[in-house]
Amino acid sequence: MSDSQPPEQSSLFPTDPDPWVIDAEEAGWVCRVVFAEPPFGPYDYRVPDDLLAQVKLGCRLAVPLGRGGRQMMAWCVGLAHRGAATSAPVSDATAADSPAAAQSVGSTSATGPLPDPLAWNVNAVDVARLRPIASVIDANALLSADLLPLAGWLSQYYLTPLGSVIETIVPAGVRAGAGTRPISYYAIASAYQDQWSDMRLSAQQRQVLTYLARFDVPVPAHQILRQSEVGASSLTTLHKRGLLTVDVRRMHAQEFVIAAEDREQPLALSPQQAHCLQQVLAAVATGNSQPILLHGVTGSGKTEVYLQAIQDVVARGRQAIVLVPEISLTPQTRQRFRRRFQRIAVLHSQLTDPQRHWYWQQIAQGKVDVVIGTRSAIFAPTARLGLVIIDEEHDGSFKQDKAPRYHARDVAAQRCRLAGVPLVLGSATPAIETYQAARTGQHTYLHLPDRVEARPLPAVTVIDMRVADSRGPGGRVLSRQLQQAMQMALRDDGQIILLLNRRGYSTCIQCPGCGEVLKCRDCDIALTHHRDLDLAICHFCDYQIPAPNHCPACHQDGIKFSGLGTQKLEAEVRRLFPTESLLRMDTDTMRKPGAHEAALQAFREGEAKILVGTQMIAKGLDFPNVTLVGVVNADTGLHMPDFRARERVFGLVTQVAGRTGRGPKGGRVIVQTLNPDDPAIVAAATHDYLRFAEEELRLRERVGYPPFRRMARVVVRSSSENLAREATDTLALAIQARFPTDPATAESFLLLGPAPAPVSKLRGYFRFHVLVIAPPEFPLGQEIHTATESLNLPEQVQWIVDVDAMDMM
Ligand code: ADP
Ligand code: ZN
Repeated sequence: MSDSQPPEQSSLFPTDPDPWVIDAEEAGWVCRVVFAEPPFGPYDYRVPDDLLAQVKLGCRLAVPLGRGGRQMMAWCVGLAHRGAATSAPVSDATAADSPAAAQSVGSTSATGPLPDPLAWNVNAVDVARLRPIASVIDANALLSADLLPLAGWLSQYYLTPLGSVIETIVPAGVRAGAGTRPISYYAIASAYQDQWSDMRLSAQQRQVLTYLARFDVPVPAHQILRQSEVGASSLTTLHKRGLLTVDVRRMHAQEFVIAAEDREQPLALSPQQAHCLQQVLAAVATGNSQPILLHGVTGSGKTEVYLQAIQDVVARGRQAIVLVPEISLTPQTRQRFRRRFQRIAVLHSQLTDPQRHWYWQQIAQGKVDVVIGTRSAIFAPTARLGLVIIDEEHDGSFKQDKAPRYHARDVAAQRCRLAGVPLVLGSATPAIETYQAARTGQHTYLHLPDRVEARPLPAVTVIDMRVADSRGPGGRVLSRQLQQAMQMALRDDGQIILLLNRRGYSTCIQCPGCGEVLKCRDCDIALTHHRDLDLAICHFCDYQIPAPNHCPACHQDGIKFSGLGTQKLEAEVRRLFPTESLLRMDTDTMRKPGAHEAALQAFREGEAKILVGTQMIAKGLDFPNVTLVGVVNADTGLHMPDFRARERVFGLVTQVAGRTGRGPKGGRVIVQTLNPDDPAIVAAATHDYLRFAEEELRLRERVGYPPFRRMARVVVRSSSENLAREATDTLALAIQARFPTDPATAESFLLLGPAPAPVSKLRGYFRFHVLVIAPPEFPLGQEIHTATESLNLPEQVQWIVDVDAMDMM
């Protein structure tokens, strides 16, 4: 076609610049920036010569914005020279003379993310019209070069402006440069190492030296003081006498070091473990980033495989990231890694800003070999990444519930692909999505079907609570069988775990006269009775009122409290076993930082015989003395309006069952249910993941749900019910119109709703949603963005798009 065009054609567009001819005033260094707040950008700025040496990708700049030229902090995400290398850089005078320099170019979209924030054609930029950046804020890039493409991917995939993605990746403490405290590290001076025991010393001084002699590394003062129960003056005296050397480092006060004698050697692997390890190491060696699913029953030795794989990665001079659910980042897990690795960073939610900053620096400087942490640790600035492991990869905590609504598993897969390193996903109950990927060959599948040393999986008995005979003497909370099993376990000096995934005392407050259920003022949620406080509390927003003694609707006396929560279970167990020690773990009893760890420690040491709790007791704990697990109500959550409800119930029951039978005494599990024939419960009772997964996949395929198609959830809220409903209709129509209508492909797309969300009111906002279902490879986020970009919804309406949504409520 272009051949037939007359040459004069080009003169019709005299203003179009020829890309190969660039005038001197149009050439120069240009940087592209984004903001963390609206207007997000990107925008282009000129880089004056005197600042050029300081500007780096991933550092922050101060730039003028708007008519007034207000200075704003911006992230530098692009830096390029426009024009041939021979063209002279723009002189300051030229730019200042140009009135057009008051405008910066960029996206016209003020709030939306860009389709591809990192795609940038610098030669299309008119340098002369750009304003110059004002100054450079960071001496070093805070976002390392390899994380910038990952940020770009997140922005695009999860429809989140690049600037706010970057502020998710770079922790607040790092951005603020939060300071760390100096801490003294003590070691025995080498000259005294063999002599101190014969010297004249006070009892306290001797205690300090005895303690330090166990280490071959300097020990932080706080650790010595805590472990040897001496005063700080003993340390200073010993230092003055020359017996101790001191080394002051800036780090944080939670760091402990491991004594040489407590370090652990790798275990001799079973043939199955060895096979798994070999597969992982082969992928490390060849840089194969295809994810590996390590599917192993609870106690099959997955963690040992991780540890040895990491050891190899570290020996190659590279770093590993291990992600675990928040709840399993227990001291036990930390110790297990610390016993094997010296240079380790533990990133969890209770770190202060200075602590986080300190770790971040250590990781970035390559002083850390192993990063272990929760979801956001996937953004650790490891420069020499060699391996990523996600343990309990099915866990819901890997998905963030605020923007960017990322799933750490998907981010990890992307990061590993970019870095050419393997990703290992470990679980006893893999997410259905992960299992399907392994089944279809997208992931490598490795299986550890047996527990180590041929320990048996515990026998599971399902108790049908509909049968009157099951109900225990004096109530229907604990069945006759569970009570008997508890008596036997206690008689044999075993410990018991009872799972009930509902906190509070009574979960339903209802008037027997008019049927009114007591609900939250601001949410469409029934209030739960907390008897210790005698309050009725909303578990979504914490709204509380004194527990009523008459119906607020019809004023009849004798409102009824029913439904079973952990507080009532605790009371019931105490009534039946008055002499046994009991510990309850749920968010009510575990509010204080450290309470979780203290409770687990107490249970491990046998201070309590019975542990009652919500799902927080189901994950990853290893207590050899637990010989009985009781699932008090397996049906909690089974009937939620969420297509993953069965999967969650199966996972929870299987996980908690795995907490027993880990020691020589063996163990058993009793599952109480009103749905003994439900496939999820039957499969959990027989430890049959494959049966569950195959059945579940059949169901999902029939309705075309994930993993067969992708799903995004559009959630709209407003304090006006009408506005929220109308806005949802508008959004749904716009999305519908955008999606292909080709009859051959149309059936791959599906819009469910608009409809009120299952939680139709939350914190005073009315909520509606639409589920958008599309073929597996469809760029769902971008398409929804394009479909809705130009809509003008009322200001009183807020809406979000949750790509690959996990939360359906
Ligand atoms: P998982 O992570 O699959 O639950 P772990 O790695 O925690 O399994 O192993 C369960 C228990 O078995 C742990 O106490 C661990 O020390 C032990 N173990 C793991 N591998 C071996 C092995 N090869 N030989 C002996 N004990 C092992
Ligand atoms: Zn509420």
